[in-house]
Amino acid sequence: MTFELSPEHEQFRRSVRDFAQAEIAPHAAQWDRDHHFPTDVVQKMGALGLMGLTAPEEYGGSGLAGEDGGFTSLCIAIEEIGRVDQSMGITLEAAVGLGINPILTYGTAAQKEEHLPSLVAGEQLAGFGLTEPGAGSDAGATRTKADPVEGEWVVNGAKQFITNSGSSITSLVTVTAKTGEREGGRPEISTIIIPSGTPGFTAEKAYDKLGWHASDTHPLSFEDARVRGQPARRPRSRLRPVPRHPRRRPRRDRRPRRRLHPSLPGPVARNTPWTARPSAAPSAASRASPSVSPTSG
Ligand SMILES: Cc1cc2nc3c(=O)[nH]c(=O)nc-3n(C[C@H](O)[C@H](O)[C@H](O)COP(=O)(O)OP(=O)(O)OC[C@H]3O[C@@H](n4cnc5c(N)ncnc54)[C@H](O)[C@@H]3O)c2cc1C
Repeated sequence: MTFELSPEHEQFRRSVRDFAQAEIAPHAAQWDRDHHFPTDVVQKMGALGLMGLTAPEEYGGSGLAGEDGGFTSLCIAIEEIGRVDQSMGITLEAAVGLGINPILTYGTAAQKEEHLPSLVAGEQLAGFGLTEPGAGSDAGATRTKADPVEGEWVVNGAKQFITNSGSSITSLVTVTAKTGEREGGRPEISTIIIPSGTPGFTAEKAYDKLGWHASDTHPLSFEDARVRGQPARRPRSRLRPVPRHPRRRPRRDRRPRRRLHPSLPGPVARNTPWTARPSAAPSAASRASPSVSPTSG
């Protein structure tokens, strides 16, 4: 076993570093002072292919089918982005780990088809809400609940500290909610996709945190927020069906993507300044619900 990165990974690291130096480093301190979440740069990270490193090609991802499913590349990217700005590092980490991965891993085919292309392209972001004011590490103490009413889930409750949940490009949050009781009185916790803009769902004012000022973090509240979807039969281990939100239609981008680096398969920037000069270096360019995936926010 070797712990050395491959030449391709090292080249990939240099490409991401060049991007981070050009696009993020010069502005990071000012963003931090201004508590500014730079959606344009987040979308450039997406255009570069960074949100799609662990996603299959059918959703616009890199399709890195190697032994690690693209996670080594993702770790390298987070390291290099985080090297110049921790806020953008966590933004990338949460976009993939908390936004894309629960849907990719547990979503239905329809949910993947609807939500993943724009998330994988980095055009939109998704949050994952486990933590609550009264239940942080203790997922079993979740108080947010979802009741099945006339073919819809009616969600009530609150979440806190939720990354990427209230930006102008956030299209949805996936939240854990109590949907019943299991044998022995243990709570049944399910995960539900709630599109941004759903009446009754509010991303409250962003936190004034001690650090990570340029990362988008909000408390969320749900007051009779309704999403269509039939109550699932046991085992309730999948994300719940949700409707197509009328104001946020999915955009399936089927334009061919360039590769981030010729030696790595997968997508890369569409018309970023540096892809116009292919030989040049980039210069502009949980613990969770028992049924979902680890969180790390
Ligand atoms: C900037 C930021 C972004 C975040 N983003 C997200 C997000 O996107 N989604 C999300 O769901 N959450 C998010 N979180 C929440 C984060 O995951 C929680 O802070 C974390 O789960 C801990 O919860 P808590 O803060 O309520 O602490 P608590 O659960 O109260 O724990 C406090 C301390 O006690 C310890 N502890 C707790 N229970 C036990 C026990 N039984 N035995 C021994 N030790 C214990 C914990 O390890 C911890 O050290 C974010 C937090 C921050 C600060």
